Amino acid sequence: MAIEIRNPATGEIVGRVTAATAEEVAKAVDSAREAQVRWRLLPFSERARVIRRFHDLILDRRQIVLDTIQSETGKSRRDALAELVTVAGTARYYLANGAEHLKVKRRSPAVPVLTSAEIVYKPHGVVGLITPWNYPFLLGVGDALPALLAGNAVVGKPSEVTPLSAVLARELLIESGLDPDLFSLVHGSGEVGTRLINHVDYVGFTGGTVTGRKVAVAASERLIPYSLELGGKNPMIVLSGAPLEAAAKGLTVGAFSNAGQTCISIERVYVEQAVYEEFAKRLAEQTAALRLGWSKSWDLDIGSMISREHAEKVLGRIRAATDAGARALAGGDARPDLGPAFVQPTVLTDVTDEMPISTEETFGPVVSLYPVRNAEEAIARANRSEFGLNASVWAKGSQAQEIARRIETGSAVMNSTLLIYNSFDVPMGGVKLSGIGRRHGEQGILRYTQAQSIVGSPATGGGYDAMLSLVRSQRMADALVWLLRLWRRL
Ligand code: NDP
Repeated sequence: MAIEIRNPATGEIVGRVTAATAEEVAKAVDSAREAQVRWRLLPFSERARVIRRFHDLILDRRQIVLDTIQSETGKSRRDALAELVTVAGTARYYLANGAEHLKVKRRSPAVPVLTSAEIVYKPHGVVGLITPWNYPFLLGVGDALPALLAGNAVVGKPSEVTPLSAVLARELLIESGLDPDLFSLVHGSGEVGTRLINHVDYVGFTGGTVTGRKVAVAASERLIPYSLELGGKNPMIVLSGAPLEAAAKGLTVGAFSNAGQTCISIERVYVEQAVYEEFAKRLAEQTAALRLGWSKSWDLDIGSMISREHAEKVLGRIRAATDAGARALAGGDARPDLGPAFVQPTVLTDVTDEMPISTEETFGPVVSLYPVRNAEEAIARANRSEFGLNASVWAKGSQAQEIARRIETGSAVMNSTLLIYNSFDVPMGGVKLSGIGRRHGEQGILRYTQAQSIVGSPATGGGYDAMLSLVRSQRMADALVWLLRLWRRL
């Protein structure tokens, strides 16, 4: 069955893919499995050569990459560039550090000198990556790079709304020298994702919490490992003494880039009472100055949302809040003059904790401001959420760090908002309903491996197991106990 892909900003058909049948999903995994047997035997440097070429190629072909991302998502050129920059950064990071993360690690053995212990990291085999529509290039290929470098094959299931960026990424990987069977794609709805889980050896899922639960159940049924990168209701804290103009500017990026359709987007802002009015005023001014629209030029800040349905859902949330007493300091409406799915970047005040907009993920360009008495109240309210993905803290000096450490999220950013996504040497992921597992850093590549422990003892004398049988008298047992005491002191 053919799936038509449309630009949500213009309604124009921009491409087609074919939905995979059950047999095609099984065949893609079988072929991947065969190719992986050869790939895993290559030294890291050989696998890295392909990824290095891919890194350079996506930069050389940036125009087509950006055009493709923009045409299937309706996002701005700058938001598309953010995807390219992050994929290049992921490749660069794992090219520089992957071998070190994957190398055999010597560990303390059972008996020093006499025995040995080491950990070997082995690829799972075939990794299934199920990804959403909001960052189709970044999520479509970014997580595949460490999986491939670790010696796995990958079968991706992109969102059926935005498969074209992943298709392009695959073509560029093949042009970089990758065996086509090592990174294949199966297209279609969630059902295709479920089928994929039934065949692969590891599932990396990025998407909503409701779907994430289903993926966890399906993977658990097969007892295969998985990671879930899910949604968020990310808080920001602004305290008196923070640079208000910079914080307002940072928030326009943190809340409105990608039309707010980012897992780590800021949706709740707790502002110390003393600076609330001033901060709200600056934020409203900066928000009103943002330029909306869709084109391939660089002078627009915010593009379309992914679909009319999603835009309507977000507008419905805004309306429910304003009907219940919230006020829009900026935005609050659709922009049908620009296209069917444009929503003005919106700043809400007088929002109460009972309104769904303050607890449920909106995934749109809407941010709510809440006045708080002090840092303690800000921390308590920031933590009062069933999500725990990312947080942002704007405060003076060491106060920002102290607060960041008390926030119950997988990551916290000081005096910035989305910085975590480009901090490749630290793990990124969620706690609570925001997920299980981490991307980036050492964990971001080791998750694609099974740790095998290899321990040994001298070949003579029946090995370590036989050592205890040498104890044949009370004196020998006492001597052994004496040795254990000495060992602890050493
Ligand atoms: P969904 O959870 O609806 O979909 C994600 C992917 O899963 C899509 O490819 C979808 O296919 C597929 N899928 C749907 N049902 C199943 C199923 N039963 N089994 C297997 N796969 C299935 O998320 P959205 O696409 O709506 O994306 C938005 C969500 O993603 C937000 O909640 C956002 O916070 C989260 N997200 C999290 C990130 C993170 O790193 N933590 C990053 C980016 C987004 P199809 O769409 O074709 O139906």
